[in-house]
Amino acid sequence: MGILVINCGSSSVKFAIFDDLDADPIVRGSVEQVGSPAISGHYIVREADPVPIRFPGHHDHAAALAATFSALKADPQLQDLSITAAGHRVVHGGQAFSGPVLVGESEIERIRQLSPLAPVHAVHNALGIEAAIAALPGVPQVAVFDTGFHQTIAPHVYRYAVPEFLYRDHQVRRYGFHGTSHQFVAAEACRRLSLPLDSSRLISAHLGNGCSATAILNGRSVDTTMGLTPLEGMPMGTRSGNIDPNLHSYLHEQTGMSLQEITDLLNKKSGLLGVSGLSNDLRLLTEKLAAGCEAAQLAVDIFCFRLARELAGLTVALRGMPDALIFTGGIGENSALVREKTLEHLTHYGFELDAGTNASHGASTQGIITRSDSPGPPAIVVPTNEELAIARATREQVCTH
Ligand code: ADP
Repeated sequence: MGILVINCGSSSVKFAIFDDLDADPIVRGSVEQVGSPAISGHYIVREADPVPIRFPGHHDHAAALAATFSALKADPQLQDLSITAAGHRVVHGGQAFSGPVLVGESEIERIRQLSPLAPVHAVHNALGIEAAIAALPGVPQVAVFDTGFHQTIAPHVYRYAVPEFLYRDHQVRRYGFHGTSHQFVAAEACRRLSLPLDSSRLISAHLGNGCSATAILNGRSVDTTMGLTPLEGMPMGTRSGNIDPNLHSYLHEQTGMSLQEITDLLNKKSGLLGVSGLSNDLRLLTEKLAAGCEAAQLAVDIFCFRLARELAGLTVALRGMPDALIFTGGIGENSALVREKTLEHLTHYGFELDAGTNASHGASTQGIITRSDSPGPPAIVVPTNEELAIARATREQVCTH
C-alpha cells in the first residue's frame, strides 16, 4: 500500500507518501516557487539525501506535478512501491462538503465553483487533483477539506448578524479552517490523557503562520475562531485577526487606499509582522524581545492577550470548562514563551504551568505542561500531522467505497 498526500498551494506543492499509517512517510518533498522560472523542488526517501526534481520547460502547477510524478516513478529506491490512493488537502469545501470525499469530475467542478470563497486556493487545489488523476490513472483520489470538520457548528454560531440575503445569495457565514489539524490533535490529546473523545470538552489552538482555535465537544467542532475567510479571529504571523469592520471605510477615506490595498494590508502586512515592524517569525521576535526590543515585546503581548481572549470565548460553546487545552502548530509546539504568556491571562481558569516541562515542550510528560496539582485542566502540547491525518482519511474513504 502507498498513499500519496498532496497539498497544492498557490505557489508551492508539498507531498508525502505513506506505506504505514502508524509511521513516518517514506517519501516527503516539496516544490517551491511554482509559476515562476525560479521553480525548484526536491524529495527525500526515508532519511536519505534530498533528490532534486527537474522541471524541463514549463513551471506551472501541472508541470510541477508532472515532473514530481515522473521523478518518483523513475527513482530506483521506489520501484517496489505502488500508489494505491491519493489524498488531497483542499482548503475550502464551502457548505457542499462536510467530510472527505472520493473525487470524480463533478467534485472537481464543485471545488472550482468555490473559487469566490477561496480565490487563491480553489483553483490550485482542483489543478492538483486533475494532475494526480492524469499521472495515476485508475487510482482513487480523495479530497480532505480544511473546512469539513467545522460543518457541525450550529447556525447561531456560524451565522453573522447581517441581513439574511448575504447568507442566502452569497454564502456569507463563518466556515472555519485548519479542521484537519484540530481534529487530529483532539484525538491524539484524548489518547494521551486517557479521555473518551466522544465525551470530552477540548479547546485546540493551532498556532502556525495562520492561527485558529476550536471548541470541540464530544469530538465535534462547536465553534472556531476563523470565519468566512482565515482573516477572522486572533492576530497571526501577517494577519490582523478581528478588527473594527469600519476600518475599511475609515482607511479609504483617510488615505485613499483601495479595497484591495486594505485587504492586503490586513492579510499580509499585519499581525506579528505589522506590530513589530520586523518579522512574522516568532523565533526572531523572541530573540529581539529578550534583547529589549519594545516593538517585538508589544507584538508578542498583543498576540498572547488576543489568543487568550479567543480561548476564553470558546468556553461558551463548550458550556463549561475544557477537559484540556491543546497547543499545536509551529508556534504552539515550539514557543514556551507564547504558551506561558497566554496562560498568564487565564490563571482564573486554573491553568498553572510547570516551567520546566513547558520549557521542554512536555518532552517527558506526553506533552502536558501544567502542574499535576494545578486546580484547572491540563494544557498539553500535541504536534500536528496534517499529512498523516489526510492519509488516514484517504484510506478510510477508499475502504468504505
Ligand atoms: P504553517 O502555518 O506555514 O504550516 P508552521 O506551523 O510551521 O507554519 O508555523 C510557523 C511558525 O512557527 C513561524 O511563525 C515560526 O516563527 C514558528 N516557530 C517555528 N519554530 C519555532 C521555535 N522554535 N520557537 C518559536 N517559534 C517557532
